[in-house]
Amino acid sequence: MSDPLSELRALHAAVDAEVAELSALHQGRLQCARGCAGCCLDDLSVFALEAERIRAEAGELLREGSPHPPGACAFLDGEGACRVYAARPYVCRSQGLPLRWLEEREGQVVELRDICPLNEPEDQPPLEELAPESCWPIGPVEARLRELQAAHEPETPLRRVPLRDLFLASESGDAQ
Ligand code: SF4
Repeated sequence: MSDPLSELRALHAAVDAEVAELSALHQGRLQCARGCAGCCLDDLSVFALEAERIRAEAGELLREGSPHPPGACAFLDGEGACRVYAARPYVCRSQGLPLRWLEEREGQVVELRDICPLNEPEDQPPLEELAPESCWPIGPVEARLRELQAAHEPETPLRRVPLRDLFLASESGDAQ
């Protein structure tokens, strides 16, 4: 059986493949491109396992680089591009797509949707008219991530790491 980090890489690859299909379907509405960093907020945190992937693949950046100033993700560069693109966490891989999830409200399961306002041009069908299967489902990948994190750190199965803290940990010599 492969280790949680290998399984995380496989999960990220599977997400990328599904995102590519949906992105092709929605190419008329998606404005997402290198340099558009509206989703790259400063307060993102990820499961420790996803932080581990970034540490494993961006050690030089963490040791020798500087975080983006506060106000946006520490991993953005000066042109608004991601400096850990290949190792970026799941939450960054599906941003921009129409999102869909289920919630229980007053005893009833309701469907909620969201999308970046930049990706709602007037010449495209409104979000609520899209077929469910053409939206990114929030929930299944999150559940799989929780399983992998639990396998990675059984004692702290929900431990999260703020992305900016990866630079701080590197500066202090704390590899965890
Ligand atoms: S890790 Fe990269 S894609 Fe994700 S929020 Fe930070 S800069 Fe943006």
